[in-house]
Amino acid sequence: VFISFEGVDGVGKTTQVNRLRAYALAQGLEPLITREPGGTPVGLAIRELVLHGIAAFPSFAVAGGSDVADDHDDLSPRTEALLYAADRAQHVAQVIRPALERGHLVVSDRYVDSSLAYQAGGRELTIEDIRGLSEWATGGLMPQRTYLLDMDPEQSHARLHHQLDRLEVAGDDFQERTRQEFLRLAEAEAQRYMVLDATQSPDEVWELIQEDFDALIAR
Ligand code: C5P
Ligand code: MG
Repeated sequence: VFISFEGVDGVGKTTQVNRLRAYALAQGLEPLITREPGGTPVGLAIRELVLHGIAAFPSFAVAGGSDVADDHDDLSPRTEALLYAADRAQHVAQVIRPALERGHLVVSDRYVDSSLAYQAGGRELTIEDIRGLSEWATGGLMPQRTYLLDMDPEQSHARLHHQLDRLEVAGDDFQERTRQEFLRLAEAEAQRYMVLDATQSPDEVWELIQEDFDALIAR
């Protein structure tokens, strides 16, 4: 069984993933918990690049130069989309598919829907392009269940306590478009998605997930 968690930053995905891990272990299942971007060593390198731009690799950052764009620090939206797709291709090939073949329960903190929501919704690339790219990167592998933790991004971002990355500092419009795209995706694929109101307490959210998860693995 393959499960993904989705939602904008700060909605509590990691907390719920950890709860699911503990619960699955107690059930005698062998959960494999992973995340995007950064579920593999190659993915971790890509993660540094997408989260911090070329500043993550100081030796490659070109200082000035007339033939270099002023914002040489920034990734173009298409580059960014390809980097997330590359991270995912490696993740599927090296981690997710082998684990599923060994019979593990695989739980990923973000997957294809994050690209549809952030790169299509947020960055305004076309949903068809991102869908095609994702399908190619994953060989069409999709989760059986996707838990979408939904909350106003203004509220969820106030809960972030780490130093913000370049996506997290992108304006509220970007975050709001991303949230709305997640909700549209959930509506279009209601059988795969479960939408959870993330303003509830972690215990309340978990109770709903647990109930659904029990039914999912029983079938
Ligand atoms: O969930 P996590 O914080 O690890 O994600 C890293 C960052 O990448 C987040 O700030 C998220 O907004 C962004 N992201 C993105 N497009 C994706 C996946 C994540 O912009 N496809
Ligand atoms: Mg984050």
